[in-house]
Amino acid sequence: MAEQVLQVVERFHSLQGEGRLTGVPSVFVRLAGCNLRCVWCDTAYARAADAGQTVALADLVRQVCAFPTRFVVLTGGEPMSVPGIQELAAALQAEGRHVTIETNGTLPPEGVACQLASLSPKLRSSSAAPEEDEDLRINFATLAAWVDQYDFQLKFVVSLPADVLEVRAILADLARPVPPERVLLMPEGNDRALLRARDAWLVDVCKEYGFRYCRRLQVELFGARSGV
Ligand code: SF4
Repeated sequence: MAEQVLQVVERFHSLQGEGRLTGVPSVFVRLAGCNLRCVWCDTAYARAADAGQTVALADLVRQVCAFPTRFVVLTGGEPMSVPGIQELAAALQAEGRHVTIETNGTLPPEGVACQLASLSPKLRSSSAAPEEDEDLRINFATLAAWVDQYDFQLKFVVSLPADVLEVRAILADLARPVPPERVLLMPEGNDRALLRARDAWLVDVCKEYGFRYCRRLQVELFGARSGV
């Protein structure tokens, strides 16, 4: 049987910058390929399916496990679009790693080994041509499968106060109870000044609806750099 390989853009040891595990030292594995084309994408270099290098599964697991943390984040691009994701996640879990999968939630989990599903559905403001991308951008049945089957957080990148109305509409369409503190609102932006400007209204929105404010610790610590 052919050896399993994956297309890997980068792997690095850093602090988780977003979500419930913010600040936890983690190994990030950025896989190549994505099924969406968000206008504000901050990892466009990872969207092509042939970006980065081909790495054998066994070598990748060995590299990840050499870092002094049990927390691993599989990200992209869209990691669920990458051949070998199921095998990689299962191998890492078998090594005792805590696996977070950062996904846009449009592709089905199909039983992937995952301790935390970090779901980031894309809002209309993410799309240059909303009417064309609508069917791709959110698949409610798929999103519901993630929510029903995994420990999850729902992380929304918001640019405008109006985005919050759409977040609430998505939660209503999901039609299942989602505790508001599992809903994370993260300001869009890759520099500290822009994030601070959005904080001016986002803090109040979180207080009003009980949603969780989501920092971008990596921007605060390192600015707009990749691999940190
Ligand atoms: S889903 Fe993520 S990686 Fe893909 S285009 Fe959107 S922001 Fe970029």
